[in-house]
Amino acid sequence: MAERILVVEDESKIARFLELELRHEGYEVEIAYDGRTGLEMAQKNDVDLIILDLMLPLMSGIEVCRRVRKFSNVPIIMLTAKDDISDKVTGLDSGADDYVTKPFAIEELLARIRVSLKRKAGSERDSADDRITAGKLVLHKMQHKVTYDGEEINLSKKEYDLLLYLMENKGIVLDREKLIENVWGYDFIGDTNVTDVYIRYLRSKIDQRFGVNYIKTIRGVGYIFESQE
Ligand code: CA
Repeated sequence: MAERILVVEDESKIARFLELELRHEGYEVEIAYDGRTGLEMAQKNDVDLIILDLMLPLMSGIEVCRRVRKFSNVPIIMLTAKDDISDKVTGLDSGADDYVTKPFAIEELLARIRVSLKRKAGSERDSADDRITAGKLVLHKMQHKVTYDGEEINLSKKEYDLLLYLMENKGIVLDREKLIENVWGYDFIGDTNVTDVYIRYLRSKIDQRFGVNYIKTIRGVGYIFESQE
């Protein structure tokens, strides 16, 4: 499927030129001629990349960029009219991924578009593998971070390891021996009741704190982690 690019540019000659060139490259193109319309189109339409002029009527490119960043990580390439360092810095600070100075060579812009789209595809793949989700509970493996409805939960290393194992085995009954083997390791010497203690910690930090019931006890057997949808 063709990737969709939103061009926000008030100079109709440049907008038209970009539209033709991008279509020729096989992209779908949408055009907005002022900042406010650009922002609305970015909100409503599922675009893969935004080319955003800096100087725009109704809302500046910087402001559009800041607002888009509140709801989307879509790649944004900023067009800066002046060869002014401060414009570039402000553009990147506001969340743009890249910038091209006007007048630009179309080949350079096309190359930057390809790079940004490739980077986006890569990061979407990574983030899908990186996360385990159960309702509002999200475990981010790369960052060793757990959140509930966006709020971070502080877990010790063992609590994290235990939760990871439980979430990876969602819906499966796990007995204490299995938890010990997989979370504490085969060489663990000690009471298997340690699992009960850590389950209690997790329940107080997640289930009790947020009024949910992820971790259920299966009497005489062990535990099961169940998604709360
Ligand atoms: Ca302009």
